Amino acid sequence: MSAVKLYGRASSDFGAKLAETQALLQRVGSEFSPLALACSLGAEDMVLVHLLHRLATPASIFVLETGKLHTETLALIVQIESRYGFKLDLYRPQPGAGEAFEQAHGLDAMYKSQDLRKACCGVRKMEPLARALAGKKAWITGLRREQSQARAQVELIEADGRDRHKINPLARWTTGDVWHYIGQQAIPYNALHDQFFPSIGCAPCTRAVTLGEDFRSGRWWWESESAKECGLHVKDSASSIIPIKEVTA
Ligand code: SF4
Repeated sequence: MSAVKLYGRASSDFGAKLAETQALLQRVGSEFSPLALACSLGAEDMVLVHLLHRLATPASIFVLETGKLHTETLALIVQIESRYGFKLDLYRPQPGAGEAFEQAHGLDAMYKSQDLRKACCGVRKMEPLARALAGKKAWITGLRREQSQARAQVELIEADGRDRHKINPLARWTTGDVWHYIGQQAIPYNALHDQFFPSIGCAPCTRAVTLGEDFRSGRWWWESESAKECGLHVKDSASSIIPIKEVTA
């Protein structure tokens, strides 16, 4: 069943949320340069790609191409570039780094221990992320409060602890809002969402969910709930929430 049909239900205040999101993107587009969207190619990021294009926000869009993405996810990259007429910036692991890790620890290293799983994420995601964010004043993410307990406190603008701002324009959106907007605007999305993959990462670490399971339960399903972040959005002690008025005119 189509994810749009299954989940697309706008909140009663969706119009206000959309207006707030558009205003925020316009404001950060004028205040932070260089600015980038960290695009996971998930449903939320497809909404953001669409809005950035529509608002002509001066932001680059990068994807962490880990070498372990699903065929459907890679196909979406081509679809985005064709629809919007721009190239995505693809950041891959250092040449040979993924292969060296697999030779040392095996193809199934991520299932053997949490340390090895995090080490794999380090090679395939964290190091490329550091390169993608180098020199950026701020980055945009598709984080939403509803996605998990770990994300329940996400604010619209935060300090990321590394002298950058992190912008979460969809923090207040519900799953229904996201899919309502995707359907309304005919935004392209990952075909796996129609096969009960609400959250999509690397192929070895993502599975479909069943009725009643929560949004992130298909990610690193063999680990405890509290461990289910790859490091991209883990807060460190220097991170803090910044009221919008302090960073905008
Ligand atoms: S999500 Fe899985 S395959 Fe992808 S980098 Fe992390 S451990 Fe490796």
